[in-house]
Amino acid sequence: MLDEIRQTLSRITNRPVEAYAVALELLRVPCKALTRGVTKGVEDIVRSIARESLRDPALGTWATEMPIKLDDYMRFTSYHRRCRIRLVEFLATGELIKATGNEWIWYNTKCGVCPIVSQSNVVSSATLGIEKYPAAWWVAYWERVVAAVGETPCEGPFGNQNIWGGTLRALKENCAVCHEAAAREFPSFRGELVKAVTKIIDGVRIPFVGLPKTLAANSSS
Ligand SMILES: [Zn+2]
Repeated sequence: MLDEIRQTLSRITNRPVEAYAVALELLRVPCKALTRGVTKGVEDIVRSIARESLRDPALGTWATEMPIKLDDYMRFTSYHRRCRIRLVEFLATGELIKATGNEWIWYNTKCGVCPIVSQSNVVSSATLGIEKYPAAWWVAYWERVVAAVGETPCEGPFGNQNIWGGTLRALKENCAVCHEAAAREFPSFRGELVKAVTKIIDGVRIPFVGLPKTLAANSSS
């Protein structure tokens, strides 16, 4: 049973909203009460499709011709929204500093060239620590990252070479000290960051509601 459903869903992995609708339809048919194992298997497949869909452009508003009921579409878009809110909250607050540390060159530049920023909406200067201020080039970079995460709330923006590559190129022109240190430090920072981001997104769950009771685990599936 799970294999059939897996096959059906594998044909529409590039249409995540439809995959969610199809899975709910399969799981909600009361005469087909499924074992907990099958239900969980289907949920896991759809959760991974939904998670991948965070990389796609933002979802639009619901329309009658869509292959999903309005309520379920709201649940799907709400999943995206919760991931977005959670990540932006993480990136712009002390949570980020706690998870990734505050010793990076971009919080501690003493190069004498790069201006620093005493207050920023996207870099939590208040939680950085005494005498630590983000460099202006970092704040500009981070604003672009936070904006990109608002569009695609996943790990993608942190590996985006357009954003980081452009920052490094500009730095190379302007400050050899920061450029050398930033190029060296950034991969470790990104590693820590992506780990934290993955944990956050994995903690946000798309809901499966309106399902009939599942059969005992040892029943036929
Ligand atoms: Zn500098």
